Amino acid sequence: MTPVLYFVIPCYNEEQVLPRTSGLFLAKLNSLIEAEKISPDSRVMFVNDGSSDSTWSIISSLTEEDEHYSGISLSHNRGHQNALIAGLMEARLRADITISMDCDGQDDINCADQMVDEYLKGCDIVYGVRNDRKTDSAFKRTSAGCYYSLLRGMGVDIIPNHADYRLMSSRVLDALAGYGEVNLFLRGIIPQMGFKSSIVYYSRAERIAGKTHYPLGKMISLAIDGITSFSVRPLRIITVLGAFVAFLSFIGIIYALISAATGNIVEGWTSMTCIICFVSGIQMISLGVIGEYIGKIYLETKHRPRYIIDERKNLKDVTED
Ligand code: UDP
Ligand code: MG
Repeated sequence: MTPVLYFVIPCYNEEQVLPRTSGLFLAKLNSLIEAEKISPDSRVMFVNDGSSDSTWSIISSLTEEDEHYSGISLSHNRGHQNALIAGLMEARLRADITISMDCDGQDDINCADQMVDEYLKGCDIVYGVRNDRKTDSAFKRTSAGCYYSLLRGMGVDIIPNHADYRLMSSRVLDALAGYGEVNLFLRGIIPQMGFKSSIVYYSRAERIAGKTHYPLGKMISLAIDGITSFSVRPLRIITVLGAFVAFLSFIGIIYALISAATGNIVEGWTSMTCIICFVSGIQMISLGVIGEYIGKIYLETKHRPRYIIDERKNLKDVTED
């Protein structure tokens, strides 16, 4: 039997993009169905992440035009990672495989064939990895490079140059359903699960229209989530730093005592000020890092749902057994 494939595509305020890319997804789905690689029950599933523009009405009319389109709409904007998990968890109950991707045409849809081939050969996860970063600004290229090194330094296992373009089998999705965390960083979780995986390389295009929803602030916040959701090394670094500063202070005390003994007690104002500023700076940073983890604990302990589904289109009711 051929597997049921669901493309899972989060969309947030994408009215300029969807009319242009939706046909590409459907054409790819149909070509895979014709090649008898996937079942005719396969779908292009859009996740409307609480858009404030006409994205959901575009998705709704697509689902009326063709039965291969389906959609879910979240009651509020919950961010890319939550929209993605909402779509994946809906697809889990209906599909054998999912391929998640951006709706803006940046992830090369033609890789889907290769991804399905890898699945048919026995892989449970297939990562879409960029083979270059030519379409990125110099700033994004450099910051991405530094970020990957930093993550590796913190002991987080991620696939460089891979975002959220990936195939996952229902086995992986079942395992993923057990990860209840609200601080979601899927590209950290998935490699950690350890299923048989492979990589498909693609070159990432420019956005077809509209602009990115990841400005610098959101990128930094995702980056911090990536580190703090997977590693406690920053807390250890604080301890080591504390020990180092304590050692320096000890030398300072000896110096101060010798100065006092030799009657040289007025001098040293500059060095004292520098030390106070330096140490208080380190303390503030340390408090910030600890606060970041406490904030995460606070959010996790509330066990709030990560998303609420408001509407579904072209999706048969299923019950979890
Ligand atoms: N997205 C979403 N919710 C958000 C922000 C983005 O569902 O709050 C979707 C967006 O519509 C797109 C994908 O997530 O399909 C990636 O966003 P974007 O293309 O803006 O990011 P970039 O590719 O520039 O990193
Ligand atoms: Mg994009």
